Amino acid sequence: MTTPVHTRMLILGSGPAGLSAAIYGARAGLKPIVVQGMQPGGQLTITTDVENYPGFRDVIQGPWLMEEMQAQAEHVGTTMIWDQIVDIDLSHRPFRLTGDGGATYIADTLVICTGAQAKWLGVEGEERLGGKGVSACATCDGFFYRGKKVVVIGGGNTAVEEALYLTNHSPDVTLIHRRDSLRSERILQDRLFSHPNVSVLWNKAVERFVGGGDPEGLVGVDLIDTLTGQKSHVPTDGAFVAIGHHPSTELFRDKLLLDDGYIVVEKGTAKTGIPGVFAAGDVTDKVYRQAVTAAGMGCMAALDVERFLAEADYEAAQAAE
Ligand SMILES: Cc1cc2nc3c(=O)[nH]c(=O)nc-3n(C[C@H](O)[C@H](O)[C@H](O)COP(=O)(O)OP(=O)(O)OC[C@H]3O[C@@H](n4cnc5c(N)ncnc54)[C@H](O)[C@@H]3O)c2cc1C
Repeated sequence: MTTPVHTRMLILGSGPAGLSAAIYGARAGLKPIVVQGMQPGGQLTITTDVENYPGFRDVIQGPWLMEEMQAQAEHVGTTMIWDQIVDIDLSHRPFRLTGDGGATYIADTLVICTGAQAKWLGVEGEERLGGKGVSACATCDGFFYRGKKVVVIGGGNTAVEEALYLTNHSPDVTLIHRRDSLRSERILQDRLFSHPNVSVLWNKAVERFVGGGDPEGLVGVDLIDTLTGQKSHVPTDGAFVAIGHHPSTELFRDKLLLDDGYIVVEKGTAKTGIPGVFAAGDVTDKVYRQAVTAAGMGCMAALDVERFLAEADYEAAQAAE
């Protein structure tokens, strides 16, 4: 059995939220440990061009940005551990966590930055053409489709919001939905239906994303009518899959308050309902889900941790006297 690892600040997740928390925590002298999880660097490692992270005039690559963030966190004193947390005991402080290989982590404070994964359709061509025309984030990638034709797949609030956002860039936005009505709020639907750049294809499911050209990029989507089974093809430059997100919070079910699966934090802070447990980034954010907002929340979490520990240390010293 391995010796438990004890730390003042344990961070779960190595995306922008976790690494920003680490940079601030390390610079406050807390010697944070980051458990990286199955996706070291987080979601930005599966994209290519990033053009909206402040500080870079030119387009940068997602994986490169995350390598730099990790190097910065290590440079100021963070320890990175390649492990996935599989069990967690938050019933008393210090908290006890167990890694995939059986390692035990004892944490005076815990910062949860486990992110949220976009849901995908799982159809042919989707993975291969990811970043080459197929995206799950209009805010991130819409700008690359200025003046081009795009489709959005989905029928809830996210899909309608993405479609409306894309009208800022594209003169031709088609929403593709597998039913004959939308699930989104009425006011969003009204805005969508009255927009001159938007059309809707009802009762259509995507069968395949179609690539072409050299280098290969998306050129269209093959559709099937969900009522008649009739097949059709829609040429497009970009396709945005907008069927929701899945926050990585299975571990915290029954332990922390969740809303739609997202960890609930006290407004304007990173504090969860358990003193000493904080959450930051996409795991607590069903609205913005951007690298810069995740990084900002990571910073907030580290500042909250620092204050929490200072108060706890002071109270312990008073009690000892
Ligand atoms: C294809 C794509 C393109 C994008 N493009 C942009 C863009 O151009 N600009 C932009 O601002 N945003 C973009 N985003 C969104 C951005 O990537 C996210 O908002 C951001 O990464 C969220 O950061 P995070 O730190 O909260 O979580 P994530 O980046 O999701 O990181 C989560 C981390 O938690 C870890 N983890 C999960 N479970 C466990 C566990 N049990 N134990 C330990 N670790 C765990 C994972 O390994 C991972 O390291 C894009 C997203 C995608 C999918």
